[in-house]
Amino acid sequence: MRSTLSGIPAAPSLERLSLEQVNLSASSLALLDHCPRLFRYVYLERLIWPAASVFEHELEQRRGRQFHRLVEWHSRGRQVEPRLSALDEVVQQWWQVFLASSHAHPQGRVLAELPLWQRIEGFKLIARLDRLVIIPGSLHILDWKTERQRPRDEQLAQDWQVRLYPLLLCEAAQQLPLEGPFEPEQVQLTFWYVQHPQQPFHRYYSAAAYEQDLAHLRATLNHLRQLEAQDFPMTPHTERCNSCLFRSRCHGLLPEGIPSQDLTDWVWPMQEPATPADPIADTYWEQ
Ligand code: SF4
Repeated sequence: MRSTLSGIPAAPSLERLSLEQVNLSASSLALLDHCPRLFRYVYLERLIWPAASVFEHELEQRRGRQFHRLVEWHSRGRQVEPRLSALDEVVQQWWQVFLASSHAHPQGRVLAELPLWQRIEGFKLIARLDRLVIIPGSLHILDWKTERQRPRDEQLAQDWQVRLYPLLLCEAAQQLPLEGPFEPEQVQLTFWYVQHPQQPFHRYYSAAAYEQDLAHLRATLNHLRQLEAQDFPMTPHTERCNSCLFRSRCHGLLPEGIPSQDLTDWVWPMQEPATPADPIADTYWEQ
């Protein structure tokens, strides 16, 4: 086992993937914008720090996963209530907020956790829609948000999810169980914030928006090829490195605010194991 400059032991890595082997999602494109080197570590070298579980955001992510799973099961007509008492109190509160919203009783055909994918410029682009509601003349994408802060509309307009989801829905139309073709003008997207239920974010799509998003995506993918030729350089925005978990790899320094004993390089588990200890895991629910 080798050591980093800071003396932190590092585990052997998995074989590095090529760009063609990576599924590009809104998250991966956002990470690429943040730092190309970080994109390489996470998506090509598949590295992660297991110590991330000690951070507060891990708890928030777990709550978010549980809430998404509750809504998915509700959408599929499964009984949710018998499982609620085993869940985090915060998630139970969120569930009551959801039940009080119009989303608990959607009109039209509901597809939950709908996967989409399409090859563009030689890359595989993927998305998973939390919900798609189909009614004649309308395709409504819904995405559930559990974060504390609701970003400003101007920030959200630049979000990769906001741009990629409607675009991929139009691109991957043949994968959908639709009756006949549809126009981009029929597509809309809503981010619904369970902690801010009265402040959803809406985007109404159009042919012009589709062309603009496609051009932006193509430019990003071409830029990705250039970054590959440079082996994914480190971000010039060095302030982003201060709290980065890979700071020791890039700069030989510990990330700020994290005890050194909690830091260990590790290989990203490709699939999170579902254990009976997780009351929302599929295996548990199907018992
Ligand atoms: S330490 Fe800085 S350059 Fe290195 S991966 Fe993190 S953000 Fe990128």
